[in-house]
Amino acid sequence: MRKTGKENGLDMFRLPAAFLVVAIHTAPLAGISADADLFFTRILARIAVPFFLMVSGQYVLGDFLGKGEHDGTGILHFLKKTAILYGIAVLLYLPIGIYAGQYRDLDMTSLVRMVFFDGTFYHLWYFPACVIGVLLLCLLGRTLPFRGILAVAAVLYVIGLGGDSYYGLVSLAPWLKEAYDVFFTVSSYTRNGLFLAPLFLALGAAAGQKKRRLSARSCRIGFALSMAVMTAEGFVLHRLELCRHDSMYAALPFCAYFGYCWLLTCKCRSDRRLRTVAAWIYILHPAVIVLVRGAAKAVGLTGLFVENSLVHYVTVSILSILSAAAAAVIAASVERNIRRICKRNTDPTGRAWIELNRNALRQNVNALCADLPESCALMPAVKADAYGHGAALIARELQRMGIGHFCVASVREGAELRKCGIRGEILVLGYTHPGQFGLLRRYRLTQTVIDLAYAKQLNRYGRRLSVHIAVDTGMHRLGERSGEIERLCTIYRMKNLSVEGIFTHLCADDVDLPQAKEFTRQQADEFYHVVTQLRERGFPCPKIHLSASYGILNYPEFSEDYVRVGIALYGVFGTGEDTDNSRITLSPVLSLKARVASVKKVYAGETVGYGMAYTAQKERTVAVLSIGYADGLPRALSDGVGEVLLHKKRAPIIGRICMDQTIVDVSEIPEVRAGDAAVLIGRSGEEEITVCDIAEKTGTITNEVLSRMGKRLERTLW
Ligand SMILES: *Cc1c(COP(=O)(O)O)cnc(C)c1O
Repeated sequence: MRKTGKENGLDMFRLPAAFLVVAIHTAPLAGISADADLFFTRILARIAVPFFLMVSGQYVLGDFLGKGEHDGTGILHFLKKTAILYGIAVLLYLPIGIYAGQYRDLDMTSLVRMVFFDGTFYHLWYFPACVIGVLLLCLLGRTLPFRGILAVAAVLYVIGLGGDSYYGLVSLAPWLKEAYDVFFTVSSYTRNGLFLAPLFLALGAAAGQKKRRLSARSCRIGFALSMAVMTAEGFVLHRLELCRHDSMYAALPFCAYFGYCWLLTCKCRSDRRLRTVAAWIYILHPAVIVLVRGAAKAVGLTGLFVENSLVHYVTVSILSILSAAAAAVIAASVERNIRRICKRNTDPTGRAWIELNRNALRQNVNALCADLPESCALMPAVKADAYGHGAALIARELQRMGIGHFCVASVREGAELRKCGIRGEILVLGYTHPGQFGLLRRYRLTQTVIDLAYAKQLNRYGRRLSVHIAVDTGMHRLGERSGEIERLCTIYRMKNLSVEGIFTHLCADDVDLPQAKEFTRQQADEFYHVVTQLRERGFPCPKIHLSASYGILNYPEFSEDYVRVGIALYGVFGTGEDTDNSRITLSPVLSLKARVASVKKVYAGETVGYGMAYTAQKERTVAVLSIGYADGLPRALSDGVGEVLLHKKRAPIIGRICMDQTIVDVSEIPEVRAGDAAVLIGRSGEEEITVCDIAEKTGTITNEVLSRMGKRLERTLW
């Protein structure tokens, strides 16, 4: 997925880094020159693993270590993911390991050593190292400030050096050598989760902090210098034969840090697919090496494909990337199917429920993205429980698609999203009471500045808060007036506000009348004018946004850094007419269903429901559905206004809709039984009831019908 909004060179460097790891295990230049091989494989390529650790450090631990704020869900999610990946890799390498006789003399110590430190195959040490490193830093983070953590990690790294490239020096002191040798019974190397991973994870977290960003120039100089030092260090250590292993050099953390910061200054589009493919290359390339060797031997081409180190490297690299791409596709499909099977087993058993169509959501995201310029990212509005759909399900699915910005109405909604593992930017569009400013920091939420007076309150909180400034360009709801440039500048000058965006909201972008169009253009002009003026005065406007769903539809030219898309994402516009006429093809995401609780006869002259509002003219069969207005079914659909679908046919609602029950006439559908599922919104066979139909019948817009879906409905994503 494009448009994750992150712009730096990290994703771009993943493939080269993965190929550097492949180089470590194939020594491509070995056949050409020993010195070239030493430099490329044993020195330069050593930056690859620190790079991967630093990325994890930045994204997983950045906020926790850097700002001391985190709810832990992101970390937990990462640990879980890494553990699963490790588990898969362990299983994958089991046959090769058995064949190679690696597990022959397994006892308890060697098992622990293998699983927690060495990895069950030579390259798999990385996964437990990642987990142990993260856990260690979290533990340290509870008591130490960031500097303290860095210091401890650095000390651990120095200890690690002694067991790695500097072991020869250490061996000069027999007692020290002894101590290391005792440790080597627990872990074969010091490049593990205790000594290597913590420093690079912490450095990643440090590099990610905006206030410490280095300029591209200083990064380049720093990288070149530290690389030169590391090269010299590597050559000296190898010449003197001091290395026991050569994953760790004294200059490596500096090289890695400057190189990483340099990547951060690059302006490249991020691409999640690169992450998955790089990870699979890392996991699979040793298997590919085994295969290439085996195949070469079988066909008698060992001379070319194995002994010619460069051909060997290129062959392994090409096959690795192909198998990684295939593995990524297969893994995604397996994940989807497992999810589907799990869902099937949890076929709704409730009284009334919402089914969310994952494909529809994906199609809507793709259709909307296709309509937007490359530089514009979606910032889905998942307020009001994602318009009744279920904020956790929707936001997680969007996150899986690579979306990294969200907006909500309240600080509580934002906190809920964090608790269910949403990691990107979350903008609170509405008012937050000063008593809850602490929650903004705790959950890393971005607050909207409603006006100057509110900005003062935010500033008075005393600790730094991320904000977007709302500009009122004519809606006269929230926002500082667009004419008040001085007041907007005052907001910018407040020392505790970190202004990360500025936006306005259009209030007539859905109206197809000349004066509404004129008004909307005026709103946009006002907004752009504000942005220009601010920029002229030296106040940056990092991210700007104006459009919601109707803006995307009717004024595509206003799609700036973000579009705060709400209703369209869920597959409809406010009215059926707009939905039908839309140039963007959308599919409704939500279906609403309810169980038939009871089927019974009523005889001529009997009444049904509260207020005796319905009288049977002749004998009728009625079905009682387990859904009422408390579940969000508008009461205005009572008395035959609304219908439901049962067995692909329509059944009218009779009498008054109750809080928890609704009665329909099923005289024409004799096959209805208690326990059947009735469709209130959605399809059954050829028939369909859309939320647009309901909105029209009840005199409102789809937004209202959807956002009032009840709390007690079960929600599942299919
Ligand atoms: C709710 C909301 C949106 C989303 O609006 P849709 O019309 O549903 O796309 C965007 N911006 C703001 C300020 C909102 O309050």
